Amino acid sequence: MFVADRPAQVARVVDLRGTYVVPPFGDAHLHALYGPDGLVAQDSILVARGVFYVLNPHVPVSDRESVRGLPVTVDVAYAVAGITAPGAHPATSYEARALGLQPWDVSGERGSEIRASRVREGDAYYLAATADELEAIWPSVLASGTDWVKVFLNHSDEWSAGRPDQPRGLSPAIATDIVRRAHAARLRAVAHVETAFDLDVALSAGVDLLAHAPGYALNDRDPAEAEGGAYVMDEDHLARLASAGIPITPTLARGPFMVRYIPEAYRPDTSTVDSVRAFHADLLRDLAESGVSIALGADSGGLWSWDEAAYALDIGGLTAANVLRSWSVTTPQAIFPDRAIGSLRPSYEASFLALSCDPEAEWSCTKEILHREKHGRALSLSPAR
Ligand SMILES: [Zn+2]
Repeated sequence: MFVADRPAQVARVVDLRGTYVVPPFGDAHLHALYGPDGLVAQDSILVARGVFYVLNPHVPVSDRESVRGLPVTVDVAYAVAGITAPGAHPATSYEARALGLQPWDVSGERGSEIRASRVREGDAYYLAATADELEAIWPSVLASGTDWVKVFLNHSDEWSAGRPDQPRGLSPAIATDIVRRAHAARLRAVAHVETAFDLDVALSAGVDLLAHAPGYALNDRDPAEAEGGAYVMDEDHLARLASAGIPITPTLARGPFMVRYIPEAYRPDTSTVDSVRAFHADLLRDLAESGVSIALGADSGGLWSWDEAAYALDIGGLTAANVLRSWSVTTPQAIFPDRAIGSLRPSYEASFLALSCDPEAEWSCTKEILHREKHGRALSLSPAR
């Protein structure tokens, strides 16, 4: 641990003169560190980049089991097999792949087949459309060894009124019951949200972390204008979020990044992508100015938290000081709220990165890591293979 005074006996001296010392970084939305091969490779990438704390916010039971007990340097929390409604996200993504299709095929001619498929149920996800169903699956959720319980909200205002061929995530009542049960079991709850209404439901339910910001997934139209403003957080949302003290992981970089993978015929034009980026910049500024805790993570597209950090700076949504605080203070504390991390003060775990130059002056300094210390242990990089 860090201590205020120099102890009488000093076993090791780390010369930090001329360096810039920050708490290690975190990644609050990274689908990685499962499967024995991925674990080793990704662990060393994360250590090299100074990311010591990770939340994998959704992983199948079997993938979690594949790495249980294996040595890893970064500290990882897993949300194992989240709970959603039949035929909804993310069940459809797993079922599409189980049928040899892609997640977006759910909106094609084989959509109803994908929605009806149950091949991955109980491993990749759990289903709870009713209170009885929740009661039935709950012992399995607890037995999965999850660190966090994931609830999926997706247009939860129309969960019962949506088109029958296009079911949404959990109902607000079931989501609330899940969070209550999670807390009773001393587990934390993380919510997938799509709309501002979903955010309201998640906050009312008392979740501990939001895995996305409303509108994060839209990359083919302006989120500010879409669906009558369903993706826009107003001042009340921001005030509730700030006063609840619940961190939010916006996951914004993926939208503009993934545009390149959209077939040319459907690809949004430059002005649409510009309006998406402008929406993201406004969103980040609003969150920061409202005092909301912003955690960093990139979710998908092969992106990591450092890509999300760079994107927040690139679009002018956050200052370098804000991003640094978010990456090295808020994110680690959001992932492991019970630990004394994310600070260099006495009684905190002695973990830090020593950078060769000032990251607030030049962002690339976050990559110039001269020394990595984790809980009083100096880390060395594994040799290149
Ligand atoms: Zn995700």
